[in-house]
Amino acid sequence: MKSYRKELWFQVPTRRAFVNITPEVEDCLARSGIREGLCLVNAMHITASVFINDDESGLHHDYDAWLERLAPHEPVSGYRHNVGEDNADAHMKRQIMGREVVVAVTDGRLDFGTWERIFYGEFDGRRKKRVLVKIIGE
Ligand code: ZN
Repeated sequence: MKSYRKELWFQVPTRRAFVNITPEVEDCLARSGIREGLCLVNAMHITASVFINDDESGLHHDYDAWLERLAPHEPVSGYRHNVGEDNADAHMKRQIMGREVVVAVTDGRLDFGTWERIFYGEFDGRRKKRVLVKIIGE
């Protein structure tokens, strides 16, 4: 069995953003040489997510508005976690949107459904953060 590991680095200039990282993951798969197996992609921070959904800007706006209703950033003082920091909402948004995805690798390609793409969800940006890609197979 072969394995491949890479850390992808991101520095999002805003507090929150969704970034399509499918091309970077496809590049990892090509470099791995793996044709059949599994590809894990996970955020390495507890205030960021990796998830799969549609690459459609209206939907991303809707996600952001929905997450902000569920766990509003303000008032910062409304969270017990925010003693010396202000990112309690980001921890909660990450929990809802998830830590990782696993995609089947078939015939050297990510075996997606028609509209599936991989996204990095940032909820406490403006600093360097990492995503882990681990691919195993033959
Ligand atoms: Zn925190």
